[in-house]
Amino acid sequence: MSRANNPNLKSWVEVKPGSDFPIQNLPFGMFMTSQMTSRAGVAIGEYILDLAVIAEAGLFDGIKFDKKDLSRPLLNWFIGSGKKVTTAVRERVSDLLNADNDELRDNAELKAKALVKQSEAQMLMPVRIPNYTDFYSSKEHATNVGIMFRDPANALLPNWKHLPVGYHGRASSIVVSGTPIHRPKGQTKADDATAPSFGPSKLLDFELEMAFITGKDIELGESISTAKAEDYIFGMVLFNDWSARDIQKWEYVPLGPFLAKNFGSTISPWIVTLEALEPFRVETPMQEPEVLPYLKFEGKKNFDINLEVEIIPKNGKGKVVSRSNFKYMYWNMAQQLAHHTVNGCNICVGDLYASGTISGPTPDSYGSMLEISWQGKKPIQMPDGTERKFILDNDTVTMRGWCEKDGVRIGFGECSGKILPAI
Ligand code: MN
Repeated sequence: MSRANNPNLKSWVEVKPGSDFPIQNLPFGMFMTSQMTSRAGVAIGEYILDLAVIAEAGLFDGIKFDKKDLSRPLLNWFIGSGKKVTTAVRERVSDLLNADNDELRDNAELKAKALVKQSEAQMLMPVRIPNYTDFYSSKEHATNVGIMFRDPANALLPNWKHLPVGYHGRASSIVVSGTPIHRPKGQTKADDATAPSFGPSKLLDFELEMAFITGKDIELGESISTAKAEDYIFGMVLFNDWSARDIQKWEYVPLGPFLAKNFGSTISPWIVTLEALEPFRVETPMQEPEVLPYLKFEGKKNFDINLEVEIIPKNGKGKVVSRSNFKYMYWNMAQQLAHHTVNGCNICVGDLYASGTISGPTPDSYGSMLEISWQGKKPIQMPDGTERKFILDNDTVTMRGWCEKDGVRIGFGECSGKILPAI
């Protein structure tokens, strides 16, 4: 395990208890301020360490890579320089922020330039996403949907336990946390109607997901084994796969989701590296029946990441409507990537692979309003007296994620989006 993960490390930058960004995390993101153009940064406490400034000051001179990659508008170039480089930069940042290290700590002028308050920065899309795939890897979620829409006795379709089901989504409409989303319009058809009608979606939903971002290409025709898969994963973000259930219900047969999903998806701005998540590995749930050889794997490939979803009405008090965990995933990321490439599909730096809705075993851990309100039959009471079956205009949906162990909390920050009325 990286020395940057040592739970005893302390930073000279103040990190308040409960912060998502202690010195053991050091996630990468892109930001700008009123004074500065977009650049790469690392979160520490309530601050961002400006990596472009650190590079300019020569403090990354011991690591061989193009320092200009840290002032490009996206992290793709930096991430694409390989794990050797990105891990070395994370470890160097850990040293520079260490309470015992005076290089930056005692350089008042450089420190003032390099540390930016998060409250004074705007977070940007961290990467250009060439391709986006959404899996369907939570057994609890797939079972709930199967019970609601098909047959309670055969909730999972026959293929589900043999391969990580997925589909290709729309990359162009993935936005960073804080970007508002307009309620989508589209075709819907009520069960008793003879013809479809057109209008704003009435059943707008969130999907609580996480996603991994790849840091290494493979060529067309190549494949990635489960044993090698994690070498290709740079890190993870929170992911809200906004979904219009009424549009989805009418359009999805026979080829799957389309306009019900591609109007917008939201990611959290900080990419938490796989290295930072290392101490939080857990076993994948038991897979029965036995999977085909190319999907077999060794070791702990799931991660214990607490997740929650809060709905915040306009001018109202918010309510946490779901508490789930990434560890429930039936299929792990290594299996997803192995399956995705087993046919020779190529992979690009910056690709985003989402988990699918992450539901836990109990109703308070379901990852979508479709399941929480059970198709609208069980509305949720909000603190302001209103109720929710799905998401209303001017509601903000905020997702949070964090790992916790040995007094160290590795957090993902927020993945937040407000729904504006249809245009
Ligand atoms: Mn989804």
